[in-house]
Amino acid sequence: MPGCIKIQNTSTSTVDRVSNVLENVNEPIPLVIVQGFLGSTGAWLWGDFEHYLNRSLPGIRRRTIFVSVGPVSSLHDRACELYYALMGGTVDYGVEHSEIHKHSRHGRKILQGQYPEWSPRFPLHFMAHSLGGPTIIKLQSLIKQGHFGPGAHPRMVLSVTAISAPFRGTQAVYLLGERRDAAPAVRPLSFGSILGKAVHILSFIAPLLPPAFDMHGDCRSLTYRDVSVVSLLKQLWRSDWAEGRDATPFDVTFQAADERESSEEGDPDPETFYQSHVAWMTRKRRHFESYHTPSIYHVASPLMYISSRFIGIFNYSTLRPFPSFFPQESTRCDPSVADSAFDMGEEYWANDGIVPIFSQWHPHSCRRTRCLHLASPSTDKSTNEGDVPEPGIWYVNYEEDANHMSIVPRWTGTDRQQQFWLKLGRWLSAVEETRRQIC
Ligand SMILES: [Zn+2]
Ligand SMILES: [Zn+2]
Repeated sequence: MPGCIKIQNTSTSTVDRVSNVLENVNEPIPLVIVQGFLGSTGAWLWGDFEHYLNRSLPGIRRRTIFVSVGPVSSLHDRACELYYALMGGTVDYGVEHSEIHKHSRHGRKILQGQYPEWSPRFPLHFMAHSLGGPTIIKLQSLIKQGHFGPGAHPRMVLSVTAISAPFRGTQAVYLLGERRDAAPAVRPLSFGSILGKAVHILSFIAPLLPPAFDMHGDCRSLTYRDVSVVSLLKQLWRSDWAEGRDATPFDVTFQAADERESSEEGDPDPETFYQSHVAWMTRKRRHFESYHTPSIYHVASPLMYISSRFIGIFNYSTLRPFPSFFPQESTRCDPSVADSAFDMGEEYWANDGIVPIFSQWHPHSCRRTRCLHLASPSTDKSTNEGDVPEPGIWYVNYEEDANHMSIVPRWTGTDRQQQFWLKLGRWLSAVEETRRQIC
């Protein structure tokens, strides 16, 4: 790639930065890794994945960047923190957002970004587990809206690889405590309620804790340096954060996903390459329409097994408002509509223990999103690994007999994990080759 960067500021740091960029232009484009709900462990849990990621790049190593964002924060807050973690600067959540959700406009100041040269000319690959997927979609959406200023462009996100991502919500949040009829309210004494209290206690003593317990609550002034014990007790009684619309639990409800989609958030960008990896650990139950049940050998992961059973028989009719994909009351009363119109596919109950597979595919329904489901039982579409990826299309890959944690984050060295990282390394190189040809 020719070096044609104009140096407008001759300060030492700028010259150094640009020199580093020019030095590195022939290196593979870095891969940013965004973790999911409660995910703040960083690289140590992910193990030896780079050995396989880089196997197709003899003598070269692709840089990987783990980014720390709020483990229980809303998609909006996580996306803002992700942007500034890479670029550096003071996290700006936006005037309108901070007024609506009653927290400070600004968060922590990041003195040194992890990739300050990030720009349309020097884009980044992104890979995400679980909640990290919709976080990246939100980031690209905010860039598109101009939230980060005119210098940011959606094509700075060169590619997105999502694993078990709840793009369209998940039943798991209701099982954990979110009210089915009154989200974001949380049922008292539920797991979600207890978790919310734990987050407040951790945030209160945050200055004394190691980074792994960083809740990124800076803009909410929750530490013992900012608020009294009485204020903490009030939040433990009823949390403004956990029971508000600006937190993870509400953002993974079907209601919140519908609201995002109705504002056209998540439409694929024509210059970004997308792929999702969809895991499922269930089988269709006999004589029970589209309901699913987990395969018995997944009982070795008991919590995942139990949640998978409940997700597999979830009754969507108990939700208020009804999700957009649920056959509406008025339609069901119309005798002219064939019975098959009321059938919902298995994809709404087949799941990986945390997320149903229809939600892992991509944002929006297949009708609205350009997508290609690879080796899916419901489609005859297929591609070979050597095929050239196209931007603006979601490539959906299936991971059979896999649970929410089978691929990442915990490295166990299985053949599935090794193959995943090998293929990802090759796919990222193919994306870069396609980009070079387009440019
Ligand atoms: Zn916020
Ligand atoms: Zn699709």
